[in-house]
Amino acid sequence: MSKRYTITSALPYTNGPIHIGHLAGVYVPADIYARYLRLTGNDVVFIGGSDEHGVPITIKAKNEGVTPQDIVDKYHAIIKQSFEEFGISFDNYSRTSAPIHHETASEFFKTLYDKGEFVEETTEQLYDEKANQFLADRFVTGTCPKCGNEEAYGDQCEKCGTSLNATDLINPKSALTGNVPTLKQTKHWFLPLDKHEAFLKEWILEGHKKDWKPNVYGQVKSWIDDGLRPRAVTRDLDWGIPVPVEGGEGKVLYVWFDAPIGYISSTKEWAKREGKDWEPYWKDKDTKLVHFIGKDNIVFHCIIFPAMLQAEGSYILPDNVPANEFLNLEGNKLSTSKNWAVWLPEYLKEFPGQQDVLRYALTANAPETKDNDFTWKDFQARNNNELVAIFGNFINRVVVLTNKYYNGVVPAPSELSKIDQETLAVVKAYPGVIASSVERYRFREAQQELMNLARLGNKYLADEEPWKVVKEDETRTQTIMYVALQIASALATLSEPFLPFTSEKLKGILALNENVNSWDEVSEKDILLPEGHQIGKSELLFTKIEDETIQFQLDKLEASKKANEAANKAVEPQKDTITFDDFVKLDMRVGTIIEAEKMPKAKKLLVLKVDTGIDTRTIISGIAESFTAEEVIGKKVTVLVNLAPRKLRGVESEGMILMTENAEGKLVFVNPDDSNVANGLQIS
Ligand SMILES: [Zn+2]
Repeated sequence: MSKRYTITSALPYTNGPIHIGHLAGVYVPADIYARYLRLTGNDVVFIGGSDEHGVPITIKAKNEGVTPQDIVDKYHAIIKQSFEEFGISFDNYSRTSAPIHHETASEFFKTLYDKGEFVEETTEQLYDEKANQFLADRFVTGTCPKCGNEEAYGDQCEKCGTSLNATDLINPKSALTGNVPTLKQTKHWFLPLDKHEAFLKEWILEGHKKDWKPNVYGQVKSWIDDGLRPRAVTRDLDWGIPVPVEGGEGKVLYVWFDAPIGYISSTKEWAKREGKDWEPYWKDKDTKLVHFIGKDNIVFHCIIFPAMLQAEGSYILPDNVPANEFLNLEGNKLSTSKNWAVWLPEYLKEFPGQQDVLRYALTANAPETKDNDFTWKDFQARNNNELVAIFGNFINRVVVLTNKYYNGVVPAPSELSKIDQETLAVVKAYPGVIASSVERYRFREAQQELMNLARLGNKYLADEEPWKVVKEDETRTQTIMYVALQIASALATLSEPFLPFTSEKLKGILALNENVNSWDEVSEKDILLPEGHQIGKSELLFTKIEDETIQFQLDKLEASKKANEAANKAVEPQKDTITFDDFVKLDMRVGTIIEAEKMPKAKKLLVLKVDTGIDTRTIISGIAESFTAEEVIGKKVTVLVNLAPRKLRGVESEGMILMTENAEGKLVFVNPDDSNVANGLQIS
């Protein structure tokens, strides 16, 4: 039964490239779902686009000295390309700075305004006197009133997920100037969520208790149980969609008001291009609307956007919002600012042509019901032990043997043994088994079943041993190879949602491109690859990933970790004030180390002879863990020459060499940057 589907995936925010967390949480599952539905003959529109408004983009633009448009142009292009490269099969990928979106969002606001669905209110909002600007959303940070997180934003606490108004924050601070904001009056339009509480209760809490994921249902319930409050849908800002009503001058729509409308405008853009009508995809009761998002977006997609759609009146509501939890990387939270991530453009440079390996590893570990961890070792194991050793190995054997025995022509079977019949019957069951998992948004499970089909093929060949049978029974060998080829053909169809590049390649190898079987045909047809069909030559689908390759990735992460630790290192507070007279008591000179040797039996000490310009003297320095004696000979240094001499292990040290320490704990000389300065010159 063919059905109409509108599938959306969260609009990525265009202030940076995307990483594996985005792919695992939203885009790969959405793509699997869309591809599966198309393969099963449904009418599908799969919608995406870039979210290009809001405060963080304006902050980034300010910091980089460019316009917000420059920022979004740059990252929209990068993100769009990543999606194309990873085979995310959007029917349309738009952007919220597009005119069609400005029109659509503007009209949507106007409709609600005209229907009296907003509450107009002049309230006191946080204002930065120094920046001459109202502070909302990410312009302001402070302590979360719910969980005490000191780095909550003016729109949301990322620690506990609570959605906030900027004025809720305790000890608010401007992200622009660091100032403590004052309060200033301004007019805004609010969506009275409290008015929609009854409908939300009935629709979600009653209506979707069974079919929505527990993590999504639970979050929504806790929200509604806490009581919903009016939510401002406009902002005092100059980047975004202008508020299209009287009194809206200098204000724009709140980014979370316009972004989900982006799904609608992207659908319109697609329909226009394809010569279709967009409205049934958003307004026909028979259309199934599904939003793929991460857990940080649940409140916007399950409460605010449905309330907007309901208030507008002519739209359908989502049938499901299968939000995922978060993916971690090697045990730590993915973070853009800490560069703790695997960036997609970088991955493709380092693993060219291996998009499916990442897709596979991410789905195998998808954070469907709880936060999950991506590790490079697991990635390697998934590739080597599953994709190479099972899927790739099976296909390779089938294709190589078919070419070897029959010049690549599918042989005619004779009578099928009981094993053959059972095997083919199991193959026929797979489309249903995989479909049942996909339709319940259990993509890990679905992919496991796909691999089980490859396992079945591998086991069949291992048990039937055509390479042995061929020596004594040619007819039986033909039948074995015929059955194995049917399994290979089923894999070519059923792998498409999960491993689209591999599926394409496999169809090429099996020369299936003209008459590939549909999903249902794999169940319905007795013959997937008929005798006499000519297949192509063998090509490796996957290659083994070596330990060095994985170590390289781990080293890169280790470097990020070190850099972060260095950045977080606390700076010592300033010492007590001294007078100029105190300072001039220090006699510091330029000197050169002319001899150096290790102090016997002392791990840290070098005994140096230093030409201070005044004399050549002995100085003992605790730098032996950072430098060898040979390394420091000839080095220009700064010497404190009037430090009282002191004896260390029987040797008198007359002065001190000035040092500091770098992020990795290695000592660094504080030395004149011009090596032409003469020894003995005073430092003042
Ligand atoms: Zn919090």
